[in-house]
Amino acid sequence: MRFRSTRAHQPEVSFKDAVLRCLPPDGGLYVPSSVPDMRQFFLYMDENTSYPELVSTVTPSLLQGELNPYSASRVSQSAFDFEPELINLDENFSILNLYNGPSGVFKDFGVAFFGAVLEELLKNSGQAMIISAARGETGLSLTGAFRGRSGITSVLLYPSGPIWGLDTSSFITAGGNTIPIQIKGGFDDCQRLITGILDDRPFADRHNITSANTVNPCRLLPQAFYFLFAFVKVKKYLQGRDLVFSVPSGNFGNFISGLYAWKFGMPVNGFIAAMNSNDSFGDYFRGNSFNPHVPISTCSPAMDISRPVNYERLVSFYEEAPAVMRNMVYPAAIKDDETLATMEWVWKKYNILLDPHGAVAFAAARKFMDCGDRHSHIVILATGHPAKEAELVRRATGQNIALPEKLQVLKKRANPIALIDPHIAALESAIASCF
Ligand SMILES: *Cc1c(COP(=O)(O)O)cnc(C)c1O
Repeated sequence: MRFRSTRAHQPEVSFKDAVLRCLPPDGGLYVPSSVPDMRQFFLYMDENTSYPELVSTVTPSLLQGELNPYSASRVSQSAFDFEPELINLDENFSILNLYNGPSGVFKDFGVAFFGAVLEELLKNSGQAMIISAARGETGLSLTGAFRGRSGITSVLLYPSGPIWGLDTSSFITAGGNTIPIQIKGGFDDCQRLITGILDDRPFADRHNITSANTVNPCRLLPQAFYFLFAFVKVKKYLQGRDLVFSVPSGNFGNFISGLYAWKFGMPVNGFIAAMNSNDSFGDYFRGNSFNPHVPISTCSPAMDISRPVNYERLVSFYEEAPAVMRNMVYPAAIKDDETLATMEWVWKKYNILLDPHGAVAFAAARKFMDCGDRHSHIVILATGHPAKEAELVRRATGQNIALPEKLQVLKKRANPIALIDPHIAALESAIASCF
């Protein structure tokens, strides 16, 4: 598989170069340029196929010439000690649970693969430094994925405010490989600094710097694997129905990964782009121009985004085949009261607790079913652990839910090892002082 920039069709780069450079020099984002057809593999897999098995079978074919089957199997074994879980509810709905990873959100799947594949790619050629903007549970996820991996140093940039969920034994000062740095500024400042440091080619090349934020194509590619896994598990329940995925979306990374799975040959009929009240992207899906609104706070905060980071990647899909995309993608906007009502409805009907992000996707799936005589089966992506939103869950369903042991660290507060002004020079010297 080769990668190109969203802004130009040439020159193409290898997977390794796309992962290690992260951003193309023209200011676009990397997207796959030619995609292999994987149908031969996953049409023969069934409900007995394990997740590591699926990943280690599919990866060497996707990354032909860059990752041999032996390495792919090692990557997949070392990345995944957790699996997605498909729960069939009835003839209309299934849920794909994606919150069993170390930080309790679906992003663990992309991050875990990133860490493992990077170590494998670096085997013969040294070192890399990964600089990522972090907030919420991202730090926990990244620290877990890079822990003990040789050749890798992970710099986490936190905006002002308390830092939660970091294990201090992973800090470089304690013999680990994490360098947490706090920026006097907001999340946008962190992201701006990362772009700035990647643009400082002499510095970036000296340290072999890349980022593990979703701008890196290696975060999105592995997310396609759980769509394939869901297809493999759900096909026996379809009985001639159309397969549709409902994806709770903010930056649209998860959504794009679903589109990749479709490009790899997964038989699917549609994707519901489930948004909360931050739905300015709905206009774009309906064929109008995109005008981001001011972001609104909702009860599904990971989706309170008005201008998705992956905007250019989505546009490049539409440029290739606008009519196909319009037939595949169904935007839906869900208000907070509908989200809470859906949490209650799902609890009463199926005895399942959903977090508000998953509930947005479920509400959108119900709307899709209700409008017209659709003969579909919808897989709803449950992206966050309900115990992390215990208060909302209690309000919506009356149920008390305890935080699992492994997520307790999210309640622990940590101090960064440096606090700096939001300037590249300050960041570069804070990094240099760690070695
Ligand atoms: C990040 C996140 C989302 C949104 O995913 P995108 O890839 O940004 O669209 C949805 N739910 C949860 C729980 C998240 O953490």
